[in-house]
Amino acid sequence: MTTTRTIPVAHLVISLIVLVLTPVANVQACENSSVSVEGAVVRVFTSRSLVQDADCRWTAWIERSLGSVADISGRFPVDRVTIFLDRSRGSQPVAYGWVRRNNPPEVHLRVFPAATLDDLLDDWRGYHEFAHLLLPFVGNRDIWFAEGLASYYQHFLQARAGVIDSEQSWQRLVAGFQRGLDDPAGRGESLDSLSPKMWSERAFRRVYWTGAAFFLRVDYRLRLASDGEHTLDTTLAAFQDCCMSGDGSRANRYKSRWDAEAMVAELGKLSLSEIWQEEYQRTIEQLAEPDFGEAGEYLGLRIQSGQIVMDTDRRYRDRRKSLALGEGFDPVPAESGQAALIDELEEVSGFLVDRGPAP
Ligand SMILES: [Zn+2]
Repeated sequence: MTTTRTIPVAHLVISLIVLVLTPVANVQACENSSVSVEGAVVRVFTSRSLVQDADCRWTAWIERSLGSVADISGRFPVDRVTIFLDRSRGSQPVAYGWVRRNNPPEVHLRVFPAATLDDLLDDWRGYHEFAHLLLPFVGNRDIWFAEGLASYYQHFLQARAGVIDSEQSWQRLVAGFQRGLDDPAGRGESLDSLSPKMWSERAFRRVYWTGAAFFLRVDYRLRLASDGEHTLDTTLAAFQDCCMSGDGSRANRYKSRWDAEAMVAELGKLSLSEIWQEEYQRTIEQLAEPDFGEAGEYLGLRIQSGQIVMDTDRRYRDRRKSLALGEGFDPVPAESGQAALIDELEEVSGFLVDRGPAP
C-alpha cells in the first residue's frame, strides 16, 4: 500500500511570520524578520538582550531548522508554534531548551547572544527541540520514547538542512550512542524500570540513546519489510494526516493523552504493526542500552570492546545516507549482502573468513 498524503488547503498557504522584537533605541532591526515554514504559523519572541538581530541570524536559524522538520512530511507537524529565545550565561550557541505542550505548543531556547548563524546551525539542540513536535507527548514515564525520537532525528535534520553531510550526521549520531553505552547511570537496569527514574538517577544519556536505537531499528525494519514503502518519515507523515489536525474522528489527537504503548499501536496501524510491537517489547524489557539489532550489520555498525565502530565501505555509507536524508533504500538484507561478500572474499583469497559475530 502506498502511503499518500493529502495536504489540506489551509496548509498550502505558506505560513506567516511573526517576529516580535522588543524595540530598543539605536539598534538596527533585521530587515526581513519573517519566519516562513510550510504549514505553520510561527511566532518568535526574543528577549530584550537578544534584540540585536541586524543580520537576521535568529530568524534565519529558526527558519532553516523548522524547515528541516517540515521536510519529513512536507509540512510542519503542528499548525502553530511559538518560540521564545532568551540569552544563556555560557558560550554554547544553544545552551538548552524545552517544549511546553500548550496550545499552541511553545519551544523555549537559551542562546549565546554572540553566536553566529553558522554556530547556531551547527548546534544540535534547536533541531532536537523542534523534532519533539513531530508527535504528541507520551508522558514522563515513557520519556525514553519522546527523547529517543528527537535524538534519532537531531543530526539527520542537520544533514537535511545542508549544514553537515550525511556521514557527519552519522558520526555525531554514533557519538551519541557511544555516550549512551558509556553512561554509568542506570547500567544493568531494564528500560521499563529506568525510564520513569531518569531524572532521579540522572541516566539521561542511557535513556535518550536507548530510545534513539529503538527508532533506528524500527526505521530500518520498516524499510526492509516494505521495500522502502514505509519508513519512519512516512509513518510520521501518516500520523500527521490522521491525528494531528483536520476534521476527521481521529483528528486533533495532538491534545489527547498518550503513552508509548498507545502511540506504538497507532503508528503500527499506519505502517507495519508487528515491527513496532516487536521492537517496543524488546526495548522496554531488555537492558537499557543502545542496541542496533540487525540494523547494525546492515548499516556497518558494530561494537568492539565497548566502542562503536562504523565501517567506511561505500556500500555502508550509501545505506546510512538513505536513512539520514530520508531517501530511497537498498532493500538487500544484511545477511545476504554479507554472505555474498564473504563468498567473494573466499573465492579471491582462498582463505576461510570468520563467519562468527564481531568480538
Ligand atoms: Zn528532548
